[in-house]
Amino acid sequence: MKNQQKSQAFFERAKKVLPGGVNSPVRAFLAVGGDPLFIESARGAYVTDADGNVYLDYVGSWGPMILGHSHPKVLSAVQQAVENGLSFGAPTQAEVRLAELMSAYVPNLEMVRFVNSGTESVMSALRAARGATGRERIVKFEGCYHGHSDSMLVKAGSGALTSGAPSSSGVPTGAAGDTLVARYNDLASVRALLKNRDVAAVIVEPVAANMGVVPPQDGFLQGLRELCDEFGSLLIFDEVITGFRLARGGAQEYYGVRADLVTFGKIIGGGMPVGAYGGRRDVMSLVAPLGTVYQAGTLSGNPVAMAAGEAMLLELADDGVYDRLEVLGRRMEEGIRTILQQTGIQALVTRVGSLLCLFFGIDRADSYDSVRAADAAAYARYFHGMLDRGFYLAPAQFEAMFLSAALTDEDLDATLGAIREVLTQMKNA
Ligand SMILES: *Cc1c(COP(=O)(O)O)cnc(C)c1O
Repeated sequence: MKNQQKSQAFFERAKKVLPGGVNSPVRAFLAVGGDPLFIESARGAYVTDADGNVYLDYVGSWGPMILGHSHPKVLSAVQQAVENGLSFGAPTQAEVRLAELMSAYVPNLEMVRFVNSGTESVMSALRAARGATGRERIVKFEGCYHGHSDSMLVKAGSGALTSGAPSSSGVPTGAAGDTLVARYNDLASVRALLKNRDVAAVIVEPVAANMGVVPPQDGFLQGLRELCDEFGSLLIFDEVITGFRLARGGAQEYYGVRADLVTFGKIIGGGMPVGAYGGRRDVMSLVAPLGTVYQAGTLSGNPVAMAAGEAMLLELADDGVYDRLEVLGRRMEEGIRTILQQTGIQALVTRVGSLLCLFFGIDRADSYDSVRAADAAAYARYFHGMLDRGFYLAPAQFEAMFLSAALTDEDLDATLGAIREVLTQMKNA
């Protein structure tokens, strides 16, 4: 066990003034038990906690740190921007450059609007889709996460064809009532919801990465495209995780499927709070001040955040980054699979590019129902075994393992060594 005295003392203080001691629930370690680490600093593939312990980090701030922490180009862009002032509430050149870069990289991204989080990007894209179609209903998928706006906090307990009950208290049934829930990888469940022609948009995580990692099956995303065309609904790819991670052009490029609107967050801020939504010019032209879909933000397009995003995306112009992430991802996947075979632990590894998940106790991961059966208690033992050895994984079974291009081959070997030790111990326990 590592000495985590300072983290523990801070967590006690935190719990008195912050609900659960945190500002975002998963950070509280409730799914794995124990106290969260308080992070002091981070560089490259490593984070250091308040007690001075160093960990190889596979959370990566939940996605933004695709190049590792404290990337020198990103830090220096931020430092330069700070010198010029923090916010003006008026146009700046940086927001134009970042929008141009995004639209050059991402297929069909003709216009972009910047916001301050992924939640806001989804909320706003849904409004634009409703404005464009004059329809009110939205189809989402069980187990997909789209931020915490009212209408998206619906998972539907069971049965894909019912309109959802909110999965949070405080959400009016009215706000959730227009959210219909389909099954991931199940086109028939989508068709059944679209056939009344009253659905404004189908929103999907092109790779579901908030129920562990559940890849889309062959033809699923293309099938959504065709269904949306058939029934006059817009297709929204929520690329808050997959954007600039699967490929520079995100899932649209990776899978060769076109979306009408795309939402972004995480990577495009390089670690600063940024979100964006965009897509077809005719739809985005409805957004105020051009059109009647109102959406605004005092700090939107913040110059410091834009500078971080621009520096980040310029680094991602290098194909080498994605080649490297694919090599790392494949080695990690194959390494874990070999360990599973050798130890006889019943678990399943899923991967798309640099997103991985190790599901315990299941042999299929294609839907929310199939992954819900995963053994979260086994994951908690695995998590703590890895943490003790200096590897910081997502503190919950139903989250992704994020790889960064800052990982070295030695880091990867060390990680696989630790996974082998922990899983062997679990097998013998
Ligand atoms: C993280 C996430 C969001 C929400 O983004 P926030 O910046 O946390 O508001 C939305 N959609 C997906 C797919 C995400 O992973």
